Amino acid sequence: MKTTPLRVILAKPRGFCAGVERAIRCVERTLELYGKPVYVLRDIVHNAAVVDGLREQGAVFVKSLDDVPHDAPVLFSAHGVAPGVWDQAHERGLHVIDATCPLVDKVHREAKRLAEEGYTIILIGEKGHDEVIGTIGWATGHIHVILSEDELANLRINQPEKIAYLTQTTLCVQECARLSDMLKSRFPSIESPPSEDICYATQNRQRAVNDLAPQADLVLVVGDQASANSKRLAEICQRDAKASHLIPCAEAIEDTWFDKVDSVLVTSGASVPESLVQGVVAHLQTLRPCTIEEHAIVEEAIHFSLPEAVR
Ligand code: SF4
Repeated sequence: MKTTPLRVILAKPRGFCAGVERAIRCVERTLELYGKPVYVLRDIVHNAAVVDGLREQGAVFVKSLDDVPHDAPVLFSAHGVAPGVWDQAHERGLHVIDATCPLVDKVHREAKRLAEEGYTIILIGEKGHDEVIGTIGWATGHIHVILSEDELANLRINQPEKIAYLTQTTLCVQECARLSDMLKSRFPSIESPPSEDICYATQNRQRAVNDLAPQADLVLVVGDQASANSKRLAEICQRDAKASHLIPCAEAIEDTWFDKVDSVLVTSGASVPESLVQGVVAHLQTLRPCTIEEHAIVEEAIHFSLPEAVR
């Protein structure tokens, strides 16, 4: 183990985005207004520490609306839901508080519009991700989901003259640009999203890692395996052959990682509380003396207002 000071570089921006802050605040406000328990369909955001914290305050996380009593408020998560879930909630007369991130909602509305206009939609995204499941639901029968060159090569489109593409909000910017370029060359008439679908928070966190990782021997990405934008940050490092670890919290750190390391970049995904990052820094300080510096690549000043029901 080295005894020289460890240079700890904190990437900025990191951690909570405006959509996650809004979703968590929605649960807290619902608890304040209605008392516990309040029900949340699926994980409000993809971070176990956040979910556990809200559970302790009185939130009950359920996989199905069937598990929600008819007189209790229920929140939809930041990733949004398909219209069939809204229909089911209305049929049961449930009081819904919609914590869908406005930037996810934008993609869902765009999918709906394109489907109504008869477009075939290629969605660049992860099959099975909550946001993608929701987007498919808004354009049932019109959407093909791809995330690789092979999946693009295997696409069979009946009406290639009326086709558009959309993307999940939390993709790797470079990988998505590569796939969308390939889509455009295979389907020259394909329509692009009216504005960027990959959200500002995903782009900024990736930019910070791209810019700062070359200064560090090792990168620690704080985030859960279920968090798409946290995984993307670790994948950027893997793509550039940079030593890196995706860890949910300080307890996952193996001290031997730092045996030959002089500098470490620490960042976190958009669903990760700052307390987990500070826990990582505190753990590093137990290993050897550290110098701590924060490098801001972009300043973020985006906030989303709460839904009227909990304002
Ligand atoms: S990562 Fe982007 S799309 Fe997802 S909640 Fe945050 S701001 Fe919204």
